[in-house]
Amino acid sequence: NKITIAIDGFSSTGKSTLAKQLAKKLEYVYVDTGAMYRAVTLYAMNNGFVVDGEIDTAGLTKDLDSIELKFVFNPDLGFAEMYLNGENVERQIRTLEVSNYVSQIAEIKEVRTRLVALQQNMGKDKGVVMDGRDIGTVVFPDAELKIFMTASPEKRAVRRYKELLDRGEDVKYEDILENVQKRDYIDSHRENSPLKKAEGAIEFDNSDMGLVQQFERIYEHALR
Ligand code: C5P
Repeated sequence: NKITIAIDGFSSTGKSTLAKQLAKKLEYVYVDTGAMYRAVTLYAMNNGFVVDGEIDTAGLTKDLDSIELKFVFNPDLGFAEMYLNGENVERQIRTLEVSNYVSQIAEIKEVRTRLVALQQNMGKDKGVVMDGRDIGTVVFPDAELKIFMTASPEKRAVRRYKELLDRGEDVKYEDILENVQKRDYIDSHRENSPLKKAEGAIEFDNSDMGLVQQFERIYEHALR
């Protein structure tokens, strides 16, 4: 019997790595909801809705229904990539620039309403591993397995820093740490669906836990 697995937590806690592995092993669909918020952010940046660091909420809201978001499975990579209005934006949505605005975009009520509806539709047949900030609290409060991942901001910033360096981005560790801390604050203090541990969620602090160890523990829970 297929179940719904909700993984929430702060940025760069290793949620997506774990979710991908879990989905692969269980032959489930993996949905990276952060990619959806990032794609809407990229859209806002490219269409004049971010001016001098300020978001034109009314303008973006008007366009929301016409923004097409799609995940397309890439067999070479073994996971789905994000497409925005037909264009593969997988690389563009991971830049520090997008990271710097995404939490502001994710605060907008209309954005959340639209993306939550899309996510609920993607997971309606179960057999899904979804990661984000509000999956266990808002998107699938009835998920059979909920996980809440945490790790120290410094550990997470180091991970992110290495990822971006690997991708050839020119970044400074201090800027990444600042971005991680700023997003933590906005994500957990916003009015709409603030990040918090869902009822019934299992908490994992993976600051000092290796990937293999994490995976084994969670996989065990998924089989119960
Ligand atoms: O997971 P990731 O770090 O890519 O998410 C980017 C941002 O998108 C988060 O910092 C958060 O502001 C927002 N987000 C959200 N709800 C989700 C997933 C992501 O608000 N379910």
